[in-house]
Amino acid sequence: MKCFIHNNQDSLGTCKYCNKGICQNCMVDTGMGLACKDDNCKNEVRFLNDLIENNKKIYSKMSKNSLIPNLYTLIFGLIFLGFHFFIKNDIFILAIGSFLLAFSILQYFYTKKYVKSMKTNFNE
Ligand SMILES: [Zn+2]
Ligand SMILES: [Zn+2]
Repeated sequence: MKCFIHNNQDSLGTCKYCNKGICQNCMVDTGMGLACKDDNCKNEVRFLNDLIENNKKIYSKMSKNSLIPNLYTLIFGLIFLGFHFFIKNDIFILAIGSFLLAFSILQYFYTKKYVKSMKTNFNE
């Protein structure tokens, strides 16, 4: 394939956005892939890369830091509540169960808020 601007030059790659062949003089390395020098293409490729990177960050943060502890808290809360209702009527067990359940719900909303704020930062 030849460069779409310089017909006498072999293309060394293709623009990730418009898929045209580009020579060394025409390519821009966005860090995650090649784009041609068209401003729209550069911006689109950067935007897509940022989007992918941002989603990865949010996903790893959510799964590593928030959702797994949240799940444990929820399960322990339900175990305590189940113990209270089905095995032994105990106000302390009920209190602990309710606290864990409330905590896991609060944590869930905090996580959602955090993810939302990450998205807002990204859009600015
Ligand atoms: Zn392009
Ligand atoms: Zn060229």
